[in-house]
Amino acid sequence: MQFIDLHAQQARLKDEIEGGIADVLKSGRYILGPQVTEFEGKLAAFGEAKHAVGCANGTDAILLPLLAWSVGPGDAVFCPSFTYCATAEVVALAGATPVFVDIDRDTYNMDVNSLKQAVTDVKAKGELTPKAVIAVDLFGQSADYEALAPVVRENGMKFISDSAQGFGTTLTGKHPLHWTDCQTTSFFPAKPLGCYGDGGATLTNDDDLEFKLRSLRVHGKGKDKYDNVRIGMNSRLDTLQAAILLPKLAVFADEIEKRNVVAARYKDGLSGVADRIPVVMDGVVSTWAQYTIEVPDPFAFADALKAEGVPTARYYPKPVHIQTAYEHYPVAGNGLPNTMDCIDHIISLPMHPYLSEEDQAKVISAAKTALA
Ligand SMILES: *Cc1c(COP(=O)(O)O)cnc(C)c1O
Repeated sequence: MQFIDLHAQQARLKDEIEGGIADVLKSGRYILGPQVTEFEGKLAAFGEAKHAVGCANGTDAILLPLLAWSVGPGDAVFCPSFTYCATAEVVALAGATPVFVDIDRDTYNMDVNSLKQAVTDVKAKGELTPKAVIAVDLFGQSADYEALAPVVRENGMKFISDSAQGFGTTLTGKHPLHWTDCQTTSFFPAKPLGCYGDGGATLTNDDDLEFKLRSLRVHGKGKDKYDNVRIGMNSRLDTLQAAILLPKLAVFADEIEKRNVVAARYKDGLSGVADRIPVVMDGVVSTWAQYTIEVPDPFAFADALKAEGVPTARYYPKPVHIQTAYEHYPVAGNGLPNTMDCIDHIISLPMHPYLSEEDQAKVISAAKTALA
């Protein structure tokens, strides 16, 4: 059994993917070829956005809008600590200061009261200007944008949804971009919508931001090829990856449904067995990037499952604010109690759209034995 099985999907889409790759090889248009434009259009339509701009990975997808808004030294950007490091890394790369915010203990997503506290702290200190908030749709679940957006707007900040794990998630039927200035995603192979290498995209309804992103991803190009008008990056989505993503996007809605079937079976099998199983907010459809539960001893649990041939993984045992490169950055209030409370218990189970009922029964039974 695999933790994330990419082969089942490959078998389903083999002809389309191989045909798409062959077309790119024949065309020779490897950089920003027509498949990139076609994919950007379809991705924007899927995410109900006016624009989607491809880039080299999900990290750059967050960095590029920060550059477009000239976020830099003296600016505070609020983000969770219980996330992949890239969410905070881009803030530091832009020269700004990440300010770490706690999570809701049930959803693992940014807690609105902790965000309020962090903004108040920063204002009281008076050293940094509150500039932007990056909320993460962790494990595939939409952050609580209805609660967060008013705090962001009252403080005149920009708002990014890092949907590397949650692209496709909706809250009351709306995508995160409904509340934010841009929504970013990653096409890293193991993400719900992954390619066969690195890739990413930023979705926005803002024409000015779209224009700047398209310039910034090609070294800050201007109208004249030889006159770059801003300091940019080399960060494009490969034509080959766009060709691979086109058939994958065509089945993505179906795959989100399949992931929800798998999640429902886990819920049935593990309710009352694990200390905590995922709590999905009312009105949210999750993309289930991970199915993360909490147990008393995740190491013993992992060993027991491994002995039964069931792989597990831990996201994230060391939150960003206690990692070496980040430990000097500010945190909300007196610390992040919810973040610190969950890290000793979290463990993620195999999750992908093609997980068979039989394999899943094996996971559930191994989990029940381990926790008996
Ligand atoms: C994977 C991930 C990223 C970074 O994406 P890459 O494509 O690997 O650069 C950023 N944020 C979150 C929450 C992620 O899970």
